[in-house]
Amino acid sequence: MDDSQRLRYSRHLLLNEFGEEAQERLLRSHALVVGAGGLGSAALLYLASSGMGRITVCDGDKVDLTNLQRQVVHRQDSIGRPKASSAAATLATINPEIQVEALEERAGPERLASLVRTADVVLDCSDNFATRHALNKACVAARKPLVSGAGIRFDGQVAVFDLRRDEAPCYQCLFAEESRSEEERCATLGVFAPLVGIIGTLQALEAIKLVAGVGESLAGRLMMFDGLGSRWHEVRLARDPHCSVCGAARVAA
Ligand SMILES: [Zn+2]
Repeated sequence: MDDSQRLRYSRHLLLNEFGEEAQERLLRSHALVVGAGGLGSAALLYLASSGMGRITVCDGDKVDLTNLQRQVVHRQDSIGRPKASSAAATLATINPEIQVEALEERAGPERLASLVRTADVVLDCSDNFATRHALNKACVAARKPLVSGAGIRFDGQVAVFDLRRDEAPCYQCLFAEESRSEEERCATLGVFAPLVGIIGTLQALEAIKLVAGVGESLAGRLMMFDGLGSRWHEVRLARDPHCSVCGAARVAA
């Protein structure tokens, strides 16, 4: 780190549990963020300001006026622009020292698999089951840690699937693709703006801890937040030995 970086990250360097080595690991790390909506906005702002050295942000949508209530990485003058490049432009104004790659596309399963292989940590900030399950499969196959977030109305949840570990459950163990529940969309149900900020920020916190090797990860637990009552709930997660995604991958390995 040079002098300017020591100043920029000085409040991390002061933390006994973080310090210079963790900051350097963070600066050498690469996060893949899928979705630059509400969750992605909060996650991206903190990943960039904290010094995640390389960020790939992938989103196929364009910014519109209804996004600005909660998608805080985008600006009024970004309306009509692709979300990925709008987000990258904002991040460059916060921390020009990191590398941000904007992918203006809705990535399908094969594309996600190749993107996941290059990343150290993956943040699922998407808003649909197809992407969530494709991203989970890619993370299981490449054994990459997946930080999953979701938020609708006043309710949010965060989970970490540390797929580098043999005993780790995956997203499919928890939310089986076959028993697909009704997809809940912000556009029809609404979403409380600060809720996605809380969940996305927690995703950034977990992603940073994972790559910097700091603290205890949320892996193996699901945290749920009720924004209307301001209450957190937590449940332990167990691997489903018959899981069609991680069970099969591990037998093959
Ligand atoms: Zn599984």
